[in-house]
Amino acid sequence: MKKHLLLIAIMVTGSIMLGIWLFSSNPEKNFNPIKAEPTLSTLVPVEKSTEKTILELVEQYRDLKLIDSHNHDASGSKYLSMQEVWKRDFVNQVVLFGDVSEPSAIMTDQTSWEAYQANPEVIIPYFSGFDMHDKSSLDVVRTNLEKGYFGLGEIAAASLYSPVVSKVVWKGKDPMDGYLPDIYDICAKYKAPILLHIDPPNGMVMEKLEEALDKHPNTNIIFGHANAFNSPENIKYLLEKHPNLYADFFAGFTTLNPASSNKLEDFIPVMKQFPDRFMLSTDSGYGVESEEAAIGAMYQVLDKLGDPALAQKIAHNNLDSIIRNQPATETQIEEIRQKAKETGSSYDLSHLSKVEAGKILWSKRVGS
Ligand SMILES: [Zn+2]
Repeated sequence: MKKHLLLIAIMVTGSIMLGIWLFSSNPEKNFNPIKAEPTLSTLVPVEKSTEKTILELVEQYRDLKLIDSHNHDASGSKYLSMQEVWKRDFVNQVVLFGDVSEPSAIMTDQTSWEAYQANPEVIIPYFSGFDMHDKSSLDVVRTNLEKGYFGLGEIAAASLYSPVVSKVVWKGKDPMDGYLPDIYDICAKYKAPILLHIDPPNGMVMEKLEEALDKHPNTNIIFGHANAFNSPENIKYLLEKHPNLYADFFAGFTTLNPASSNKLEDFIPVMKQFPDRFMLSTDSGYGVESEEAAIGAMYQVLDKLGDPALAQKIAHNNLDSIIRNQPATETQIEEIRQKAKETGSSYDLSHLSKVEAGKILWSKRVGS
């Protein structure tokens, strides 16, 4: 019996090795550069030599001021080492948070805040550390938005299948669960977006998302990684029906994750139909080889659009206008008055935005 098993094992291993050898000996099918230093050009192999390399794309689109609209690098200290990568890949700004809808998120929210204080030009801090089933969540949301956070996220509004998010203790049953309706109202008051994780993207949980969008028309809801396990038709349907919905497009999922049943090209017509409603993200490279590979995928989307004005919107303007539209809070204005007193500087506090307030308070160049 054991001998048989051994023989079978040898035969199986042998045929796999033969397969690998046959496959890799075909230079057209397999591009497998082996280099010591992984860079964008090696992380995202380009299949045909006529296609632009990722480095060429970065060079071509570096002036678009690309924003990563969904990034978890405040879990731990990854954001520190990524700053260099963001710089070399011309990722102009990053929406930063950490853990999702669980107690540990309270600490990673603090990390995203500290990252913002240290680098307000690059970091856009969001938070996720509250239990939507507890009334105290309303205080957390108000306090954090007053303090200067720009959005809520990533919030687990519903998760059945995600190996990580389905296990978090504060996840919702659906996008209308617990105090979420009141939280949407607070978001509307502060003009702050809320980035939701919803899986699966169909059935009851999506009906509840539609209910949330209809009942809270002044709240900007961003559907996190809207293209993950989801069809372009479904995204089109939702955007058509709900003007307050935005789609966070996790480009790396579509280009690099074998579980994607769509190609980038499939989503381009929807992006053209709704030019103001898409933004791009890396999701920190979740489920793909690296965050930098996911950055490369964002540039591939921009190139596939074949429309510089649209690329500008999706790379930067759509999310930027949501962030810039937020007014300075009373708490920020009070802090600026305090700072003015201490430093003897004066600031024009009329029509101040949250972005401007943050720069006055935290930029090293301004007011210090
Ligand atoms: Zn995420």
